[in-house]
Amino acid sequence: MNSDADKILIDTYGRVHNNLRISVTDRCNLRCTYCMPEEVTFLDRRELLTFEEIARFVEVVAPLGIDKIRLTGGEPLLRRELPRLVRMICAVLGIKDVGLTTNGILLADQAEPLYQAGLRRINVSLDTLDAGRFRQITRRDGLEKVIAGILAAKRAGFDPVKINAVSIRGITEHEVVPLARFAREYGLEMRFIEYMPIGADQWERDKVFFAHEILEILERDICPLVPAAHYDRRAPAMEFQYTDGAGSIGIIASVSRPFCHSCNRVRLTAEGKMRNCLFALDEVDLKPLLRGGALSEEIAKLVRDNVWAKWEGHEINTARFIKPLRTMHAIGG
Ligand code: SAM
Ligand code: SF4
Repeated sequence: MNSDADKILIDTYGRVHNNLRISVTDRCNLRCTYCMPEEVTFLDRRELLTFEEIARFVEVVAPLGIDKIRLTGGEPLLRRELPRLVRMICAVLGIKDVGLTTNGILLADQAEPLYQAGLRRINVSLDTLDAGRFRQITRRDGLEKVIAGILAAKRAGFDPVKINAVSIRGITEHEVVPLARFAREYGLEMRFIEYMPIGADQWERDKVFFAHEILEILERDICPLVPAAHYDRRAPAMEFQYTDGAGSIGIIASVSRPFCHSCNRVRLTAEGKMRNCLFALDEVDLKPLLRGGALSEEIAKLVRDNVWAKWEGHEINTARFIKPLRTMHAIGG
């Protein structure tokens, strides 16, 4: 192994990893068709890593260069006392940025305590402003709750509040313009995510409503766009600004413009499995070490080895692509 790999999380393609996504639960109060099956058996709660185990993991990986963390799930706001975990993670030396991705259903009540705990960045997933379409996509009601949650996050002081929308041809393509207008009106950052083959449904490339198509309709129906001043071409999201100055949008084009070459992410599932890629086909079980009192160096070695073994990238656009057995809700999006 490369000698640098003793200190930082680097792989054989030279990619350095500083970004950790932690799933705090696989449970969810929605059932988005692109993410999970309608009927699902969730993990027994005893299987979940405790907050102490998660914080210990963060303490082990922070000296290896992890400084950016996002809490996700399942639906992270279903995990009781989440602000306590936020406090624990924010207190770890070296952690500079803690964010959360939520479906927003429970956010109206939790925005303020999460902000008080030190969380500053929040992404709320919302694919439509139409209640019927919301029910069709999520198999549940709750659009008004999500909107109330978004407004509560703004009031609490979160900056930025980003809205994530999955773009699926024929399902959400007509939501692009209303969502973008809503985001402009309320000072939110809109991000469209190309639909990926990671759910329980039958993904086909033809169903992806592509980045260039999204840009075309935004420019036609709202306002011309230019690359944002801070646009980092290595970052997952392509960032654009409206030329009238009223807001920006991001597009995560995982299918039409994969960003594997500059990927800096690793993941920890709710039950303590480490994954070096969203689409990884294998994972490393860290729970026995975290639960069994292993030395930090033993855990760090497994993490470094797992990153070192990372593949070049997902192969969504080739016949070689193999869909992981876990669906998105069980990995942590
Ligand atoms: N429950 C939370 C939420 O919905 O924001 C957090 C977990 S969810 C798995 C994280 C993100 O993954 C959401 O923004 C969701 O839209 C996105 N996602 C899920 N399945 C996807 C798919 N097949 N393609 C693209 N994005 C997907
Ligand atoms: Fe739940 Fe989020 Fe998956 Fe929707 S995308 S089912 S809200 S985990």
